[in-house]
Amino acid sequence: MKIQLPEYVEKNKKWFVAGAVLLVIIIVLRKIKILTMIIDIIEKLPHRGEYQQRSLESIDRIIIHHSASAAGKFNAFDFARWHMDPNGRLNAPRIAYHFCVDPDGKVYQTNKLTSMSWHTINANATGIGIVLNGNFESEQPTNAQLKSLKNLIKYLNSKLKKKLPVYGHKEIPGNATACPGRNVKLEDFKNIS
Ligand SMILES: [Zn+2]
Repeated sequence: MKIQLPEYVEKNKKWFVAGAVLLVIIIVLRKIKILTMIIDIIEKLPHRGEYQQRSLESIDRIIIHHSASAAGKFNAFDFARWHMDPNGRLNAPRIAYHFCVDPDGKVYQTNKLTSMSWHTINANATGIGIVLNGNFESEQPTNAQLKSLKNLIKYLNSKLKKKLPVYGHKEIPGNATACPGRNVKLEDFKNIS
């Protein structure tokens, strides 16, 4: 039986088919996370050494931070300089975080996952540190930022082939901090598979 399609569909059939094929390709790519845009700036950031390294298998949690600076006023390059300041609190070889999520939703990878970077006392050895750019004690994260954070967590779970528990910096014992701020609803990120 031949299905009679409306004339405009019949005329432009190849474009409908092409559109459908493209849609399927996009869905598949999203599924396998190829379209999760992560901008790798690890080697572009200022650094003066390397952190101790670990295996990917040893990673067992994700820790969310805020930069505690006005949203978008500074970026990962500024954070790297602050963390490396020899007179600063950290005096670290590189930026403390593994990822930085900006207010426009852009995700930057700032350290290798295998680097034991210094973002959270008692969780540096096995944690992945993600910073949301902004001060969420006093302002609100953007929707783009929250969506990117969710996608990033999904991507990391898929890459490491496990469901990584998600914590706020303040939830890790030994850290007297409000980080990532009262306006980041941590429960929204704890059940992402
Ligand atoms: Zn923090």
